[in-house]
Amino acid sequence: MIEITDVHKSFGRAHVLRGVSLTAEAGTVTVILGPSGSGKSTLLRSINHLEKVDRGTVRVDGELIGYRQNGNRLYELSERQILRQRATIGFVFQNFNLFPHLTALQNVAEAQISALRRTSSQAYEKAHELLALVDLWDRAGAYPRQLSGGQQQRVAIARALALEPKLILFDEPTSALDPELVGEVLDVLRDLAASGTTMIVVTHEIGFAREVADTVVFMDEGRIVEQGTPAEVLDNPRHERTRAFLSKVL
Ligand code: ADP
Ligand code: MG
Repeated sequence: MIEITDVHKSFGRAHVLRGVSLTAEAGTVTVILGPSGSGKSTLLRSINHLEKVDRGTVRVDGELIGYRQNGNRLYELSERQILRQRATIGFVFQNFNLFPHLTALQNVAEAQISALRRTSSQAYEKAHELLALVDLWDRAGAYPRQLSGGQQQRVAIARALALEPKLILFDEPTSALDPELVGEVLDVLRDLAASGTTMIVVTHEIGFAREVADTVVFMDEGRIVEQGTPAEVLDNPRHERTRAFLSKVL
């Protein structure tokens, strides 16, 4: 489903991704761990072409993201084609990024109308279903500021699901939440994983990683230092840097 090959990315002189390769099968959950500044967000953003990589390729479901291949050469896609690809990849941000002037229901319905050309009644029916799925059927008319952080994040997840993405990327989805609200969001992620959604999740929630991940990846300084099953990476890390990181977050 996802095939990332030798991706490099620099911002000015900062070489932030230094040859990252990663694959994930459909229906699996990949958890990415690593210290702040190690390139986790940049890697996620590269997967839906929010960042343009300097070298290497990203494929989702066989499709080259951001580029078209002609022989050995890569040509960048048009902005419209990139937007079309991006609509097939859900992205859930640390700070929810809901539209403040739209209700929960409108937030979930709106993108379906603009990106998928669903009719308003189809979009709103789907939006009601998805708010029920994240246990917010009774808050459909609330504006983001009237919702807790955990509720806002669940609306953001419903919004991502509304586009029926091939894959959903989560960038520290619980880091901005008060501790007592983390559980309700992780519960939704657990349900999604159990229903076979392909997910890549950047998180420091080690318990979640242990329970839900098929693959755990540890990144440091723009590289994947190690990857494997939760038992391998979390319980028997082979690298000193992984051990040092885990001893801090556990
Ligand atoms: P992480 O998500 O692991 O904390 P990031 O991918 O956000 O790491 O950032 C990796 C490095 O790249 C950091 O040093 C950060 O300051 C830098 N960086 C990220 N985005 C930009 C940008 N748009 N411009 C310049 N530097 C950036
Ligand atoms: Mg980050």
